[in-house]
Amino acid sequence: MPDLADLASERIEREETAFLTRHAHRPQGPAPVYVGGVPTCAVCGDTLPAARADAGRGRCVWCQEHHEHMGRLRP
Ligand SMILES: [Zn+2]
Repeated sequence: MPDLADLASERIEREETAFLTRHAHRPQGPAPVYVGGVPTCAVCGDTLPAARADAGRGRCVWCQEHHEHMGRLRP
């Protein structure tokens, strides 16, 4: 008879894999736009914090939040 703990960890592993598969290919949005060497938001053109640009995020915090909010409203 299989150990209950083994069954549980097997199930958790399966759910983790499913979760990662669902979220691994989530679009990251646009790449940062460089204007005169300065990273700017691809949406509003505001200066982008270097940390966000380095992470490949092309939207400023405001535009990202706005985008995610709009995404939630969509059916
Ligand atoms: Zn922006």
